[in-house]
Amino acid sequence: MKKIIIANWKMQLSLKESLVLARGYVKKLNLQKNEIVVCPDYAALAFLAPIFKNTNIALGAQDCAFSAKGAYTGEVSPLNIQSLGAKYVILGHSERREYLKEDSVLINQKIKVALENKLVPVFCIGERLAEKRAGKTKEYLLQELRQGLKGLKIKTVNDLIIAYEPVWAISTNKGAKPISCSEADEIQKFIKEQAQKILQKKVRVLYGGSVKAENAADFLAQAHIDGLLVGGASLQVKDFSIITN
Ligand code: PEP
Repeated sequence: MKKIIIANWKMQLSLKESLVLARGYVKKLNLQKNEIVVCPDYAALAFLAPIFKNTNIALGAQDCAFSAKGAYTGEVSPLNIQSLGAKYVILGHSERREYLKEDSVLINQKIKVALENKLVPVFCIGERLAEKRAGKTKEYLLQELRQGLKGLKIKTVNDLIIAYEPVWAISTNKGAKPISCSEADEIQKFIKEQAQKILQKKVRVLYGGSVKAENAADFLAQAHIDGLLVGGASLQVKDFSIITN
């Protein structure tokens, strides 16, 4: 199975910059080796769809509403995300948990509604520095898995992806540095086993957190790392082309 590499552009780019970067991806990336997914902000989704059409680059959103329709001002429906051509949606990212106060109940609801609307959720979990320092990483991850995956039914390994992103390793957080490859691999093994117990199905688990051109290949070589979720380093065509090569 190919590895999957997801670019999370966050809210870092203007619409114009998003279009330039998307065209740069199409021109410069190796589109055969791995599955590549780009998650721009909502406003850019419709504009990027024609650029990626007939390429191997898939589109994803960075979040979606907890319902497909309704009186929810400001929310964006998974139904509309899907009809714009997106296949994936990142859910439960640590920035949304922190700044938008999203909790596990809401994230669980979003995962369910994304699946109902034929999107593949990329469910993010990860311990913060406090849990790491207290030696409670696995306990915390298990709790996030149990709450986020509660009551879910998936049919195949392709229906849902988990992204392990230790919050302290995300490049925009103070003092961030990547986890060691061997530690990531060991934790990803744990996540895979626990997720399989909960879902009764295998799932793919990606690593995210300060992935750069110089460390991506080492992460991808690990047995339990099925791919990468990349923030900062996905904003430069040159860096991302090394990561995806
Ligand atoms: C992220 O926030 O999803 C992420 C992986 O960021 P970075 O690669 O910049 O650490």
